Amino acid sequence: MNRYSAFGLLRGALNGQKHWQPAWRDTEPKSHYDIIIIGGGGHGLATAYYLAKVHGLRNIAVLEKGWIGGGNTGRNTTIVRSNYRLKPLHDLFEFGLKLWHNLSDELNYNVMFSPRGAMFLGHSDADMVKLAERGDAMRCDGIDADLMTRDEVAKLEPLLDMSRSARFPIEGGLIQRRGGTARHDAVAWGYARGADSFGVDIIQKCEVTGFVREGDAVVGVETTQGRIGAGRVGICVAGHSGHVAGLAGLKLPVESQTLQAMVTEGVKPMINSVIMSQSLHCYISQSDKGGIVFGGDPDNWPSYAQRGHPMVMEGAIAQGLALVPALSRLRMVRTWSGVTDMSFDGSPIIGETPVRNLYLNGGWCYGGFKATPASGWTYAHTLATGSAHPLNAPFSLERFMTGATIDETGTGPMPNSR
Ligand SMILES: Cc1cc2nc3c(=O)[nH]c(=O)nc-3n(C[C@H](O)[C@H](O)[C@H](O)COP(=O)(O)OP(=O)(O)OC[C@H]3O[C@@H](n4cnc5c(N)ncnc54)[C@H](O)[C@@H]3O)c2cc1C
Repeated sequence: MNRYSAFGLLRGALNGQKHWQPAWRDTEPKSHYDIIIIGGGGHGLATAYYLAKVHGLRNIAVLEKGWIGGGNTGRNTTIVRSNYRLKPLHDLFEFGLKLWHNLSDELNYNVMFSPRGAMFLGHSDADMVKLAERGDAMRCDGIDADLMTRDEVAKLEPLLDMSRSARFPIEGGLIQRRGGTARHDAVAWGYARGADSFGVDIIQKCEVTGFVREGDAVVGVETTQGRIGAGRVGICVAGHSGHVAGLAGLKLPVESQTLQAMVTEGVKPMINSVIMSQSLHCYISQSDKGGIVFGGDPDNWPSYAQRGHPMVMEGAIAQGLALVPALSRLRMVRTWSGVTDMSFDGSPIIGETPVRNLYLNGGWCYGGFKATPASGWTYAHTLATGSAHPLNAPFSLERFMTGATIDETGTGPMPNSR
């Protein structure tokens, strides 16, 4: 693998940049792999990377029906944080956040992680009580959290509408200063390059269309490039989890819903942190290129259509403008959406399934990008050893049968309602 460095860049500048190699190989499928991962998003690629790096496995393939990073990994609003409320989520996301802080060095690939601070706004006394409770829970688990006054919020983000007559008055906030954003495509490419350097086969345009069974066990997959044998198979397909698990006869407690995002033309720095409002479910940040990235609620009805409904987009825009009125002067250059895998307690599922040799990683709802390193790490452990890592043990599929759900927002079977 070509190791990237300032010296390499300089050498390239002097000899016409002719020495660069492709970041990963384009490969044909072999007849059999020890482990096949379905889905070449950040999570699938990170899993392959850690399977090779941490567990020393080499005979691994990642099968992707489109192009790597073309799913939700390349469609999200890039927010990275670990400011949850329940302990299992703290443990998982904080482990991930620690990996994020060193990820560019680890992968020798600039994932542009930018810990600029992730701030929740509070719009009422009740909101502030909830934020204080969340901050206390985080601190009890050793995670940084600072409750902010109105003045502190106004100082950090001068363009917020802080007037008392604002549509959504701002009473204060809760900030996690180590949170921020990362370049989503680079995360997929960095993990792909890392996995490839250990010999992992990354096979694009290879859709899994069925499973090969022997008795109660999966022993391979049917694909658009033929049948491929496998010791173990890991599903890692986000919004398509329900469909792919259905090919093995499994019905998941997951619903696929469209989530939209938008970006404006690039402007000079105007938003300093990641601004989020849980009450509105609106989030705003500025990309390193200068575009203002924002998003809101999912469409709230099941769909595999990778385009959102204008009514929902209009709602997100109205909320964004109410918080930062200056945004109304900017031109929107792009909107897009992804198919999210909404689980019925709002928390992910990582672990075994009732089908032998078949494992599941899904149910990330609209918040799985930030978990990419932790998800890959723990799923790799599960696929390599056949048993749960302590961090993903609570996130089993079985919890929906035993009732041990992880209901962060206390909204029961409607995790995306407020
Ligand atoms: C608009 C939007 C904003 C978001 N914002 C954030 C955010 O700010 N922060 C955050 O933490 N999370 C956010 N998320 C959620 C986050 O993007 C996802 O949880 C995460 O990227 C999922 O990664 P993944 O690798 O599991 O899935 P994906 O990146 O979707 O990868 C799954 C892959 O599986 C492939 N696939 C599907 N079916 C098959 C098949 N049969 N055979 C082979 N391949 C198949 C797909 O083509 C896809 O490439 C957002 C999501 C959206 C849509």
